[in-house]
Amino acid sequence: MEAIKGHCLCGEVKYEIFSEPYFAHLCSCHTCQRWAGAPTVAWVEFERNSVKWIGVSGEPNWYRSSETTVRGSCGRCGSGICAVDDGSDSISITICTLDDSSLITPDEQHSFQEEAPRWWASVGKSMLNT
Ligand SMILES: [Zn+2]
Ligand SMILES: [Zn+2]
Repeated sequence: MEAIKGHCLCGEVKYEIFSEPYFAHLCSCHTCQRWAGAPTVAWVEFERNSVKWIGVSGEPNWYRSSETTVRGSCGRCGSGICAVDDGSDSISITICTLDDSSLITPDEQHSFQEEAPRWWASVGKSMLNT
């Protein structure tokens, strides 16, 4: 299969993925908001072992964001790249670091929608109307 590729803003963290994507979803939990500096993160999951880190910095910098989860970001530019739950065979990748952020559509779920900023829905609607 053709690899799914992506990279951080500065390009020092680059990845190639050799498995099928699954569970593409949005998350607006407070942790995702702080980590990304954004109202919502679009995630997609892959087999953890199928991700190869091919950029000059190798793996992203790991930060323990909860008792059971670590998140990976670029140590140079700070782009949020991925998250892994302890003991899991899956890795969550941020859809917006893919080379083509339209490649995978988050459609299964919007987790923690209730934690999103209150303006989230109204901003989206007003922009569609203009
Ligand atoms: Zn970077
Ligand atoms: Zn989240």
